[in-house]
Amino acid sequence: MNIHEYQAKELLQSYQVAVPDGISAFTVDEAVSAAEKLKANGASLFVVKAQIHAGGRGKGRTKSSGAKGVILATSVEEVKKAAASLIGDTLVTIQTGEAGKKVERLYITDGVDIANEYYVGVTLDRTRNQNVIMVSTEGGVEIEKVAAETPEKIVKEWVEPGLPLQANQARRLAFALGLSGDPFKKAMKFIMALYKAFEATDASIIEINPLALTDDNDIVALDAKINFDDNALYRQPKIAELRDESEEDPLELEAGASNLNYIKLDGNVGCMVNGAGLAMATMDMIKLAGGEPANFLDVGGGANVETVRNGFRIILKDPNVEAILINIFGGIVRCDRVANGIIEAVKDPEIANKLKDVPIIVRLQGTNAEEAKVLIDESGLNVISAVLLKEAAEEVTRAIGA
Ligand code: ADP
Ligand code: MG
Repeated sequence: MNIHEYQAKELLQSYQVAVPDGISAFTVDEAVSAAEKLKANGASLFVVKAQIHAGGRGKGRTKSSGAKGVILATSVEEVKKAAASLIGDTLVTIQTGEAGKKVERLYITDGVDIANEYYVGVTLDRTRNQNVIMVSTEGGVEIEKVAAETPEKIVKEWVEPGLPLQANQARRLAFALGLSGDPFKKAMKFIMALYKAFEATDASIIEINPLALTDDNDIVALDAKINFDDNALYRQPKIAELRDESEEDPLELEAGASNLNYIKLDGNVGCMVNGAGLAMATMDMIKLAGGEPANFLDVGGGANVETVRNGFRIILKDPNVEAILINIFGGIVRCDRVANGIIEAVKDPEIANKLKDVPIIVRLQGTNAEEAKVLIDESGLNVISAVLLKEAAEEVTRAIGA
């Protein structure tokens, strides 16, 4: 689960991570009163920041007003103007795609005088089974580019599982940023606090880009992105409350409500599979046969009429879907039951109507696979059965003329 920058900063602040003062706003009036409060606390420079679940806002532009997603303002009046140019408009950044994202929340924050920008990230390094903290002097730019072109400019420390981050590790990281004196100490403290926050919140990634050294020798996070491990949300009720469903894909939300593990992709071959591993293998086979999967969908172990019907509903709501490949392995669940489930679901008038131009290729393997194939072949429905996954993948790509 993703959260907004202002939420991330409030959360980080509760773990003693240094961030500039800021207040969120949902309207222009709220933005104005936020700026007045910051001004009363001594701020003379403000930054108005669009809150969307995507980065690249500083270089992004809104569709109607052409405003940038991060605007510097030197007065409350300018904050008002900036807020008006952002709220309700759609911001397009390198990460949103052309459709962009509607700006419904703003963050008004103290503007700082930046002496230097750095990058700090914490995540799980799956190849080492350890959390890793990464820092780079190349902050404020796309870190992916730094990783690809000048990987030596990213310095890493891996944390021993079960132990906290060690002070000497934080020291090495702060040193790698080229800092000394007071900023060095502050950066060390910042990194220690950031790692604590990462662990305590069950985050899967925290990125501070940029981390700033200010003209006053302060070290503060100017941006903050946090992603959480969904499987840990049950024990993080306060974090779960930060969810903003309007930022999520509506089909993925609907699928989640039906307990289906669905991820929307850009292709035109809908997939319905039981088991995440088999679902990934199926997507690979579709690609190998020259097709492009429209989604990842794991209907779980017990593929029954209800789950198959929900699966069809979700897949068919994606207008790009031109054919559907169903790949079920009958281990505990018997294939003939799944076949009956598919036949039942396909008869559902709402689904049948949408399936008119969408051929279905079914591959059922495992317990009672032969009986299942007979059921499908004799159902009289527009469903093609296949035995091998390769055949099924080729059949489905043939169906869409790929
Ligand atoms: P994004 O990564 O989505 O573009 P950032 O929050 O990183 O958004 O902001 C983009 C740039 O704007 C930063 O690299 C920094 O130079 C500047 N900036 C952001 N917040 C502040 C701030 N509080 N004070 C001064 N400059 C800021
Ligand atoms: Mg940033």
